[in-house]
Amino acid sequence: MKFNPDYSNKESLLSLYQKPLLELVFEAATIHRKYHNPREVQMSSLLSIKTGGCPEDCGYCPQAARYHTDVDAEGIMKVEDVLEQAKNAKSNGSSRLCMGAAWREVKDNRDFDKVVEMVQGVNDMGMEVCCTLGMMSENQAKRLKNAGLFAYNHNLDSSKEFYSDVISTREYEQRLDTIDNARKAGISVCSGGIIGMGETEEDRIGLLMSYMEMENPPESIPINALVAVEGTPLEDQKPIEQWELIRMVATTRIAFPNSIVRLSAGRTKMSMEAQALCFMAGAGSIFAGDKLLTTPNPEFNEDKEMFSILGLVAKESFADGEQPTTNPDPILIEKKRIAAEREAAYLKAKQNKSNKSFTPRTVTKVDTLDG
Ligand code: SF4
Repeated sequence: MKFNPDYSNKESLLSLYQKPLLELVFEAATIHRKYHNPREVQMSSLLSIKTGGCPEDCGYCPQAARYHTDVDAEGIMKVEDVLEQAKNAKSNGSSRLCMGAAWREVKDNRDFDKVVEMVQGVNDMGMEVCCTLGMMSENQAKRLKNAGLFAYNHNLDSSKEFYSDVISTREYEQRLDTIDNARKAGISVCSGGIIGMGETEEDRIGLLMSYMEMENPPESIPINALVAVEGTPLEDQKPIEQWELIRMVATTRIAFPNSIVRLSAGRTKMSMEAQALCFMAGAGSIFAGDKLLTTPNPEFNEDKEMFSILGLVAKESFADGEQPTTNPDPILIEKKRIAAEREAAYLKAKQNKSNKSFTPRTVTKVDTLDG
């Protein structure tokens, strides 16, 4: 069941969200058990492959170039370094790698070629690959799909009404277009929001309503709590209560029974007991590793201990969908062919030059300047 028909309008969803907490958790747990294995939680890793220097103005984000934060702009990571990190994440139990680049949009340049190679490499390792690269055209989405991309993350962040309080450099509609482009390319969609940015409960429900209005809701819905970072416009936001995060996870679980609800940023502020309630209420994934792009996150070992105490098991990759095939990328092949041709021409020219025998001119006294 993609949508829960009992909660398909704003009023019913809001009254669900406002139910007595334990009733809400019980209802969510019941749905979760019907559609998912409640002991399985996917461990995903989030890797910033291109950090900082972003031209956008998302009010929560320390990577926006215009804010004075501790995050410095860096170039894109090397493909081999990303593959090494993916290998480490896999050996620590992660079955999904999400690669994030602080871009407004994907551009058809050498950096994107590198992302394509990263996707190919990580998919070949048997991990689910997700990317979050900003806005993306349908052709770019097809290229990523062809490389073996499993999912594309593009959050709506909040309700359409509240969105413009936080972001002004791109429209809500543009976000919807990118999600649509991922869908058209046959890529699984990961899209969710952030709570604690100053929005109302109605805005939280408004976010879920945006997904209700889609023909197909996202297969994966991350729920984040704001991590207020110094230097961003939201630096003074009061942290949300853990109960609010539990409510949001539970409401999302009930509204979209088939989707994976991901308990994402904000876990460092949660007790293990609160996280346990989130798992009970249907969270089916966490991000593992000590960093979430640029903000802190619990370490692998802490999560392993929590899994052991709560009796959770790490979910295998591709439990919710077939592994995409990694196909050769025609653009990379063509670029490599041209580069090889140029290299060969250069070597040939160098060889010809060194083969030419050098016969010095006979210098007579007349040719010299010393008279
Ligand atoms: S959230 Fe993404 S698009 Fe927005 S400023 Fe940060 S890196 Fe840029």
